[in-house]
Amino acid sequence: MNDTEANPGNLIVITRNQHSISRKSISDAALKVLYRLSKSGHRACLVGGGVRDLLLKVQPKDFDVATDATPEEVRALFKNSRIIGRRFRLVHIRFGRDIIEVATFRAHSEDSPKTELDTHGRILRDNTFGEIEEDAIRRDFTVNALYYDIHDFSVLDYTGGLADIEKRQLRLIGDAATRYQEDPVRMLRALRFAAKLDFVIEDSAASAIYEFGHLLAAIPPARMFDEVIKLFHSGRAVRVLELIREYNLLKYLVPALDEWMQQDPSETMLDFIDQALVNTDNRVNTGQPVSPAFIFAVLLWPVVLEQATRVQSNRQKMIPALVQVGESVMKRQVRHISIPRRFSQMAREIWTSQPRFHRTQGKQPLRMMSYPVFRAAYDFMCIQAMVGLFPHKLSRWWTEFQNNNPVSPDQERKKPQRSRRRPRRNAS
Ligand code: ATP
Ligand code: MG
Repeated sequence: MNDTEANPGNLIVITRNQHSISRKSISDAALKVLYRLSKSGHRACLVGGGVRDLLLKVQPKDFDVATDATPEEVRALFKNSRIIGRRFRLVHIRFGRDIIEVATFRAHSEDSPKTELDTHGRILRDNTFGEIEEDAIRRDFTVNALYYDIHDFSVLDYTGGLADIEKRQLRLIGDAATRYQEDPVRMLRALRFAAKLDFVIEDSAASAIYEFGHLLAAIPPARMFDEVIKLFHSGRAVRVLELIREYNLLKYLVPALDEWMQQDPSETMLDFIDQALVNTDNRVNTGQPVSPAFIFAVLLWPVVLEQATRVQSNRQKMIPALVQVGESVMKRQVRHISIPRRFSQMAREIWTSQPRFHRTQGKQPLRMMSYPVFRAAYDFMCIQAMVGLFPHKLSRWWTEFQNNNPVSPDQERKKPQRSRRRPRRNAS
C-alpha cells in the first residue's frame, strides 16, 4: 500500500474557498436534509457521486447524504421518510419526485456480529455504525469517498480521491482482490464510472477484474438487473459494451451474446448493436424515455435472429419461429439477469413485430400502430434498416405512413389504459 492509499491518517481538508462546489448546484431537497440534520446536532455531509460530479462540473444524477445520526434518528426528523434495505439500512426522504438517500456512517468490521460474510468473503449484510473515516474507507473508489461537510462547506478527502479526480482515474480503496471479493458488483461499477466519466481504471483495479470476473456469476440476478440497466442507461452504452468485452465480462451478463461474438460475428449485426446503443445514448442524453426491454431486445437479437432463421422454413413461418426461439433465449437469459416480466415480454414483442413490418396492405398497418410496443419496435426496425438488415424502402414507407396517420391525442391517451390490467381509480 502506498502512503496516499486508504490511510485515514491522511485527511486532506479543502476549505470552501479552495474548491468549486457551490450550494447553488446542490438540490434544495439535499440542502434541506443536510441543514436539518446539522441543526439537530448531527454531522451531515454530501457524499459519493454528488460530490464527485460537482467537482468534475457534471450535473449529479442524485445526491446522497451521510450522517452520524442513526436511521431511527433520521426517520424521526423527517416525516416524509422511510427506512429501507436489509443488506444496508438506509433512509429515503421524499420531496415530490426527488428522493434523498441518507446513510449512517458505517464501519467495516469483519469481526462485528453485524457484518455477515459468505464463504467467498462476500458481504451479505453490514450495519455496523462507525466514524466518518471508517465510513470513507469502506466505500468503493477513492473518487466516491469525498465528503462535502455542510458544517463549514469544506471537502474532506480521507483516501486521496481528489488527486485521483485530477488524474481522472478510478482507484479502489484498499486491496483490489479483497474489495472485489467483498462485492463483485464493484467490477461493474468500475466499468460504469470509467465509461461515464471517461476515467481510466487504475492498474491493480483493472487487472483484478480479469481474475475475479467469474464472481459475478454468484450475484443475485435481481441485483444484476439493476446494475446492468445502470450500465446501459448511463448515456455511454457504446463504451460500456466495449469495456464489458475488453474485460471478458460478457459471458456473465449475456452469455448467449458472448458465444455469438466468439464465432466470427457478422459486421452488419455488430453495426446494428452499435447503432442501437448510439440511439439509446442519444435518448438518455437528451432526456427521452428509454426502456430495459429495448436493451435486451438489442443484445439478444443476433442470437434470436440466427436461431429463428435456422428453424423457420419460409418467411411466413418467421413469426412463430421468433416466438419459439424468443421464449427459449429469454428463459436462459433470466437465469443470469432477472428481467421483470413486463420488459422480457416487450422485448419478445419487439422481435415478433419485425416481420410484421413487411405487411403494408389493408388494415394491418393501422392495427400495428395501435400496439403499445409499436414505438420501440419501429425504432428497432429503423436501426435494422440503417445498417442494411431491413429494406430501406419499407422503413421509409412506415415513417411516411405515421406522418400521414398521426396518432390523435385521444388514441394516445387510450393506449396505455388498454394494456393496463387494473384501471387507475382516478382515470378520466
Ligand atoms: P451515480 O452517479 O451512479 O449515482 P454514485 O457514486 O453516487 O454514482 P451510488 O450507487 O449512488 O453511486 O452510491 C453512492 C455511494 O455509495 C458511492 O459513491 C460509494 O461511495 C458508495 N457505494 C455504492 N455502492 C457501493 C459498493 N458496492 N461498494 C462500496 N461502496 C459503494
Ligand atoms: Mg448516487
